[in-house]
Amino acid sequence: MNLQQTIEQLYTALSKNKFSKEELLETALDVINKKDSDINAFVEVYKDIETNSTKDTLLSGIPMGIKDNILYKGRGASAASKILENYTASYDSHVVSELKKHGATIVGRLNMDDSAMGTSTESSYYGPTKNPIDLTRVPGGSSGGPAAAVAAGMVNYSLGSDTGGSIRQPAAMCGVVGLKPSYGSVSRNGLIAMASSLDVIGPITNNVRDAEIVFNAINTYDPLDSTCIPEEKRAPFKVKNVNNKVIGVPRSFVNGEGVSDEVKANFQTSLDALRDAGYTMVDIELPHIQYALAVYYILQPAEASSNLARYDGVRFGLHKDGATLEEMYKNTKGEGFGKEVQRRIMLGTYVLSSGYHDEYYYKAQKLRKKITDEIKKAFEKVDIIATPTAPSLPFKFGEKKDPITLYLEDIFTVPYNLSGNPAISIPSGFNDNGLPFAMHFTAPMFCEEKLFEVGKDFERAIL
Ligand code: GLN
Repeated sequence: MNLQQTIEQLYTALSKNKFSKEELLETALDVINKKDSDINAFVEVYKDIETNSTKDTLLSGIPMGIKDNILYKGRGASAASKILENYTASYDSHVVSELKKHGATIVGRLNMDDSAMGTSTESSYYGPTKNPIDLTRVPGGSSGGPAAAVAAGMVNYSLGSDTGGSIRQPAAMCGVVGLKPSYGSVSRNGLIAMASSLDVIGPITNNVRDAEIVFNAINTYDPLDSTCIPEEKRAPFKVKNVNNKVIGVPRSFVNGEGVSDEVKANFQTSLDALRDAGYTMVDIELPHIQYALAVYYILQPAEASSNLARYDGVRFGLHKDGATLEEMYKNTKGEGFGKEVQRRIMLGTYVLSSGYHDEYYYKAQKLRKKITDEIKKAFEKVDIIATPTAPSLPFKFGEKKDPITLYLEDIFTVPYNLSGNPAISIPSGFNDNGLPFAMHFTAPMFCEEKLFEVGKDFERAIL
């Protein structure tokens, strides 16, 4: 038995009593014990793991982990930030309560960039997570822990969060599958908020079918998230199906500056494999998509600076004394937030400040609408949009120090957080040094089933 078998294989084996849920958990804990001192995927492995569900569902008894920004009642949740180091969740997030209903075995909480801002998991208060494929390289971020834990076989699947690429990019870098569901499908209730109009929770798994199973379990309506849309009201958002396996390729975007040659070559090989599997490719133009990253880096800091204002040293988390109120804030936030988080708070406060609001925030909102409309329009002619997931392969620790270079990692993932479309990252082979490539597919709003369909075809095609 191993944790990298498919969920259905594990389920069948459990049903036939080939092994018990307890034995499966023991295996997970053994792998964690052996590997995690090197990898550092876990912030915490729970001492008293709940395995009491007898319910017969596909996920029952399957060991999994949650990103450290997802609340699980009575357990720590810190978003890998010093400011929340001693915070304990007072309620279950919607996704955790759904997983509990399915009898999932939640093994622990997983490492991430401080407050979910980053692309390499180097900024975690608990130290970086290493990439299981090559320990000298980053696992991507911000869900580096969730991706590494699955890739190393420590858990079968995990939940991450994706605001600009944080599920898909680390999944790509660790050679596993990562799904960002449509904005408005999976409830954000109980996710430590980063940029609320962009944040989405989704699964990281070993294969596409497993992502589908986990997504189906957590994709339930929740009135406690006001942006969560009930299933019966989703139909009007869906663009009509083109229905004949047409893939749109934003060619000039993919061929843009900063995309590595081997990534471009692998992308073409992947498209060829899809063509052989019966798909048709057409080039599409998304004229404003090149501004997506710039738009994101105005809206994300604006929303994050507003959300993070709650960590004032009084109500939540770390408190540091000061002679005056201002000094108390300075001491608390200065010590509690990492450097990158401080940078975003300052950026966000600036773009929202009077006089600059119109020039930056309002302009960015207009462009967000334009980008969203262009993507929606593209889906009148194609079923799926394909790009690489990331412009480069997993890099070495410390190799990318300049924040802008790190921001560029999200060039292909960010557009669909702005537009809300569902998107999936799927492994597409390795380079000569054994580093993984990945393909990125996007579907119309609330059409995750299309991603699963093309994703499964792609997995077969690329074998
Ligand atoms: N890398 C992006 C950022 O740093 C996205 C992070 C995320 O999706 N949580 O903001």
